[in-house]
Amino acid sequence: MGIQWFPGHMRATLRALSERLKTIDVVIELLDARLPGSSANPLLAELIAGKPTLKVLNKEDLADPARTAQWLQYYAARQATRAIALHAQMAGPARVLVAECRRLAPHRGGMAKPLRVLIAGIPNVGKSTLMNTLLGRRVAQAADEPGVTRREQRVALADDVYLFDTPGLLWPKIVAPDSGWRLAASGAIGRNAYDEEDVALALLRQLQADHPDRLQARYRLPGTAAEVAAQPAHELLQAIGRRRGALLPGGQVDPHKAAEAVLGDFRSGALGRVTLETPQAFEAWMAAAHAAEAQRQAERAAARASRRRDAPPSDAGV
Ligand code: GDP
Repeated sequence: MGIQWFPGHMRATLRALSERLKTIDVVIELLDARLPGSSANPLLAELIAGKPTLKVLNKEDLADPARTAQWLQYYAARQATRAIALHAQMAGPARVLVAECRRLAPHRGGMAKPLRVLIAGIPNVGKSTLMNTLLGRRVAQAADEPGVTRREQRVALADDVYLFDTPGLLWPKIVAPDSGWRLAASGAIGRNAYDEEDVALALLRQLQADHPDRLQARYRLPGTAAEVAAQPAHELLQAIGRRRGALLPGGQVDPHKAAEAVLGDFRSGALGRVTLETPQAFEAWMAAAHAAEAQRQAERAAARASRRRDAPPSDAGV
């Protein structure tokens, strides 16, 4: 695992997490139901391989129910894995989570062998909200901006169930651009790390393919849904900007403001319940991204080898 370039605090977080995992019975991996595959940190996947895992598709209230069902089926087929969908602000469904954890570790429980559960997930996926709901009080700071680091906390969900929360893990590297823009659209990545216009255009292309009727209704666009679907995305962004009054002083559309409007509507659910990926599409672009990454690495290694061959022999004798 090539992690040498990680900043020091990330190495420390990784070490602390692997240490903590030794005493953990079940890992709850919180995913964003609108992008379950893309919102899974690959580094976490490596660390928790083999541990009983509960995949929680959070924010299900914002996701397409039919696609959520596909994702649940996809995860439930894995070994030692269960999967549920949640709306973290709802107390009833959140309690199901404890029952699911008990099912994953039936040998644990009771005061002598308390069930130790770790909750992990990328920034902004809803960890604090879920913990607050589970406990019926405010234990963790829910933040709107990603990247807020917190210290580890331990809370009791029942007399014999302890929940550990860890500081967020950064991404090793987002290898698939298809996942990158989805993460940015969901609000998981700090605003300064991406171009809002590029992300909004990618989101629009996806919505044109899946829900042109909703785009038309939300922005009162002229023409049929099929015409909305066929329009170049940048023209669509212009039209949306005009509708939303996202204008520059001269009266031209401000593409940045128009992009913010589209992203804001997606995040708040104003465009309806949308899931941006299916398990099959996600697997296909990850396989392509890994193949491209392997090719890049092979080319780099070949270039290094040829530089070494061409370099004049050193006379230093070392
Ligand atoms: P954390 O960084 O993982 O701890 O995420 P937070 O708990 O701070 O949540 C980030 C944002 O997502 C907040 O604005 C929450 O109100 C919102 N949120 C969390 N869970 C849900 C959910 O199930 N549905 C919806 N609609 N919003 C949620």
